[in-house]
Amino acid sequence: MHEIAIVKDIFQTLEQAYPERHQDIIRIDVQAGLLSNIQPILIQNAFEAYIEEYPIHRDLELDVTILPILAYCNPCDKNFEVKFHRFVCDCGTPSDKIVQGEELKISKVTFKNTDHE
Ligand SMILES: [Zn+2]
Repeated sequence: MHEIAIVKDIFQTLEQAYPERHQDIIRIDVQAGLLSNIQPILIQNAFEAYIEEYPIHRDLELDVTILPILAYCNPCDKNFEVKFHRFVCDCGTPSDKIVQGEELKISKVTFKNTDHE
């Protein structure tokens, strides 16, 4: 269950980033690349379990967006989307230069009073 660890990590990151205000967070938007092996449903389940353990966060909402895999093609000098794990550009050049898809990041944090993001 590495999702539990991920959820704990998200909360720890936010507690460090907003030591005084993290209890006012009402929504967390997370972006996960397809290669990060994150299952949105499993993350949601881990999140539900977490806020059950820490009821102070029970009004919190978590939103997970999955990002497609992008790789860089040298001859075209552009990024292309990797579909079905086929790391080949439209022009036929294979590439393993992944520019997006492995990350897990907090993209947005919403607080109770919306004067701050
Ligand atoms: Zn290309």
